[in-house]
Amino acid sequence: GGTIRFEHIGFSYDPERQILEDVSFEVPAGKMVAIVGPSGAGKSTISRLLLRFYDVTSGRITIDGQDIRDVTQASLRAAIGVVPQDTVLFNDTIFYNIKYGRHDATDEEVIAAAKMAQIDDFVKTLPEGYDTMVGERGLKLSGGEKQRVAIARTILKAPPILILDEATSALDSHTEKEIQDALDRVSKDRTTVVIAHRLSTIIHADTILVLEAGRIVEQGTHAELITKH
Ligand code: ADP
Ligand code: ADP
Repeated sequence: GGTIRFEHIGFSYDPERQILEDVSFEVPAGKMVAIVGPSGAGKSTISRLLLRFYDVTSGRITIDGQDIRDVTQASLRAAIGVVPQDTVLFNDTIFYNIKYGRHDATDEEVIAAAKMAQIDDFVKTLPEGYDTMVGERGLKLSGGEKQRVAIARTILKAPPILILDEATSALDSHTEKEIQDALDRVSKDRTTVVIAHRLSTIIHADTILVLEAGRIVEQGTHAELITKH
């Protein structure tokens, strides 16, 4: 499962100003969609609506054909894993930071998730801030490494849908590539991936939505959009 459908979505945070207008798209199960467009276009709003932080003003959003308003919050949360922009690591090894996603996971499952997110070299690492009596010091992980820990955490939970919202983070190109590879693997593993913002990701996405001022102005594969321009 994990097919997402936005059907003629209209949305406003307040009646004065329309944020999304007639937004329709479909992401088949296991595919990757990248939502791009200028700041303020409504990309994050799309993720928020999918998570039902807000209800749509018009139209409907379905997951596997079911209106998300007919699904309990608990099952919606279970179906959608969110990779946050700023991952908070707690004071234990990366292994346990990943296992935090699913306490009953076996060691093998934790390692498999770490491998898929390409953070397995770090499983024994203690994050920055960790100081023991014997003077053992934690390591400062980069933003991309932390994000891969969050991806591994989400993989372990195996939600049908994964959302990665990248409103503000700026990662170097090497880190981008590593995260991209991790996401490619997640998507191959039949998880539907929704990415807002990350420009370099769009090459890998099955569908690119270009959003401007709350409307989809273009929609297609990377190749389709390139040949148009
Ligand atoms: P159906 O509703 O039976 O899928 P439609 O004629 O409405 O048939 O849709 C044809 C195609 O266009 C579908 O494959 C679907 O992916 C796409 N489509 C149509 N309407 C929407 C919509 N509101 N949201 C997303 N995709 C749509
Ligand atoms: P993007 O992710 O593309 O940068 P957003 O979805 O965050 O855009 O925001 C779309 C528009 O909605 C912006 O004009 C923003 O100012 C407005 N907006 C976002 N969140 C809220 C909110 N909670 N209340 C009112 N307006 C909001």
